[in-house]
Parts: sequence; C-alpha cells; structure tokens
Amino acid sequence: MPVTGDRRTFVIGLAGALVTAARRGHGRSAASVYDLRIDPLRLQHSLEKLSTFGRPVGGSFADGVSRVAYSDADVAGRGYVLGLLRAAGLEPGIDAAGNILAVRAGSVPSLKPIALGSHIDSVPNGGNFDGDLGSLAAIEVVQTLQDHAIRTRHPLQVTIWSNEEGGPLGSQIAVEGPHATDLDRNFNGIPLREGLARIGGDSAQLAAARLAPGSTHCYLELHIEQGGTLEKAGIPIGVVDGIVSIDEYSVEIRGVANHAGTTPMPERHNALLAAAKLIEAVQEEVTRTPGRQVGTVGQLTVTPNAPNVIPGFVRHTIEFRDLSASTLAHLGAAIRERAAQIARETGTEITINQVVHDPPALAAAEIQRQIEAAAAALGLRTLHLPSGAGHDAQFLAKIAPMGMIFVPSVGAISHSPKEFTRWSDCANGANVLLQTILRIDAA
Ligand SMILES: [Zn+2]
Repeated sequence: MPVTGDRRTFVIGLAGALVTAARRGHGRSAASVYDLRIDPLRLQHSLEKLSTFGRPVGGSFADGVSRVAYSDADVAGRGYVLGLLRAAGLEPGIDAAGNILAVRAGSVPSLKPIALGSHIDSVPNGGNFDGDLGSLAAIEVVQTLQDHAIRTRHPLQVTIWSNEEGGPLGSQIAVEGPHATDLDRNFNGIPLREGLARIGGDSAQLAAARLAPGSTHCYLELHIEQGGTLEKAGIPIGVVDGIVSIDEYSVEIRGVANHAGTTPMPERHNALLAAAKLIEAVQEEVTRTPGRQVGTVGQLTVTPNAPNVIPGFVRHTIEFRDLSASTLAHLGAAIRERAAQIARETGTEITINQVVHDPPALAAAEIQRQIEAAAAALGLRTLHLPSGAGHDAQFLAKIAPMGMIFVPSVGAISHSPKEFTRWSDCANGANVLLQTILRIDAA
C-alpha cells in the first residue's frame, strides 16, 4: 500500500480539483481530496472476474487467459467491461473500429478530454494483467471519482482499445485509419470485417472512428512493464520515457550450394557460415556501448536446408530497438560495415535492406513530471525507463501528449499464464493514474 507523502506540495497541485469540488457544493476539505484513493479490493475483484472470460476450461486465475480479439471470450469480456462502465455512471459507446469509449463530463465544457485506457484482448495463452490492468484501473479511477462525487474540470474519456495484440489495431485505426492491407487480414482466423461486426464495429465506417489531432487534452495508460527493470531495482512505479523505435532489416546472403562431401573447406562459399558470423556481429555491435538498445536475429531461412549440401542461400532478419533513432541509425551503419567484411571473409555476397522504420513515440515531458509528482506524493519511488514493447499509447502520441505508467512484472514474465503483478503494485499504479489525472486536470 502507498505511503503518505508531503501534503503541502500535493495540495498546491490539486488546487484546481479542490476548487471544482468545493464549487459543486460537496464541501470536501483539502485533506479528503488529497487522500482520494482507488479501492484496491474492487480493482482486484474486477481483474479476477475479467480473467474468467477466456479462462482454460477447469482452470483458475493462475492458468491465464486466451481472450484473442473478436473471439467469443473477447465479446464476453467486453460485455463485462461495458457493465462496469455503466455501473460507474457512464454511457459507453462502440466506434466503428470496435473501440469502447465512455466519456465522463467535466465541469468546464470548453476543455478537451483527458483520455485514459488500455486493452482487454490477449495473446493466446496469455496473462491476466497485460492491458487488463490499465483498462480496469481506468474504470476504477472513474468509479472512485463517482463514489466521492468529484467532478474534474476536463471531461474524462475511458477507452478500451480493440485488438491491441493484433497491431495495435483499434488505436491505429482511430489515429491513422486502416492500412491498405488491414481490411483483408485475418486475426486469429477471423477476417477483420467479420471480427469488427462481432464486437459492434463496422468496417465500412472506419473513417468515423478517426480522432482529430488536438482533440484530446492528453492520453494516459497504466500498463505492466513486461520486463524486469522495476522488479530488479525494487521500485514500484516506472515513468515511461517513450516507446522505442524499431528498425528491421532483411538480409540476403548468396553463397554457392555444393556437395558437402567433395568440396574442400577452402573452396566453400557457405552462406550459413556468413549468417552465423553476422548474427554474432549483431550481438557485438549492440553490446559494444552502454545503453538499453537491443538487437535480435529472430528469423532465418536456409536454402536448400539439407544435411549434405553446403548452404547456398540464407535470408534472415535483423531487428534493432531503442528510444534513440540516431543510435539505431548508427547500429544500422555498423552492421553494414561488418557484413561487407564477413562477405569478403566467406566468399559470399550480402545485401541488407531496411524493411521497417518505426520512429519512437516519446512521452510528453510535462506528463512525466506529473506522474513523478503524483508518485512522490503517494510515497512511491519512480524510475524512468523506455518501453521495449508496443502499446496503444504509441499511436495516441501522434495526436496528443502521451504518458505511460509502468508497474513491476514478477519475474519479468509476460504473454504467458505466469504473468503476474502484485495486487499492491496494481493498486499503486491505479492510484498514481488517479492522482496524475487530478494534477493534470488542475494544472
Ligand atoms: Zn498490452
């Protein structure tokens, strides 16, 4: 549970919210608004209840969930979430992209909404916290404000984005529109058109789901870290600097396929040997300088892929991720140099083409400061870190100032039934979300 922090700084930050509460005649003292906390048991209960939609037959919470987008479990889980939103006094709607949207009116009609949310779809055999925590914490925040009759100045917009694990897709459509190939794609065996219809969307009206740039005051998302940085550091709250940039390359290595028994070693042009050296070079270049940059060779095809033939052709990927686009550019240049040298050594020809360049999605500095201040006032230590995984927030960052709050993942495990975040950490994250919103609202 959170520890009480310095009340004076907090009260100053919350002045706007307090004034609003007082104006509305609820007569609350500064201390009562300052002390506002989510209900940790209610949040735990809703996470446990949501876990039953898509739970393996005969299983328990610990057996995780398969609530892939557009499945019956997804439809049922969304039904549960819609009920929670209605219980919190909201009238949720569903946009053409299948995103669930619910607005709680603010006291100043001219202000743009503060948006908060996440997703409730999962990967197959996934866990009960990825997306679920941020979604249910957003609803818990609104329910808490409702319980205490506190009206924010800005409207609050809770959004449960559809099909995050397949993209993120719902948030992408809301921000960028569908990509040309999206409409023909199948997700978990279900064509997108049919999937959207199953969750109350409409593939023919996707333009109507677009959010205009500047239409949202800011976007906040609470999420589990899905890595081990916070747990290792023993720090309960992560302030996300941004979602990393991804550069992906397609590598083709041409050697000569030949008899594995009759070709002497000095006369070989072994494409797989060149690939092995290049994979090691990726490891060396990425770890050469300190930093959080990562590099991965995760996919490789070998031709002809036979035990008695020297590999004549290899195609593989290289993926680099970091918050800094210039670090990634530097890694790309370094690996091209290494490849040229390896080609000479092995008598092969290596071509490298960049196939993906996803720029970083940076969190707004002002929101990072408000998250830090909210956590400090709750007596919670914070650590800045990048997100190595993609999130709905990466699209929202294109149209509004964005901030993300991370809480520790036990054992750094995610996308697995073993995914777990301590209930106290879930509550801390939700309280930081609540208090960050109140601070932004008052600023
Ligand atoms: Zn997620």
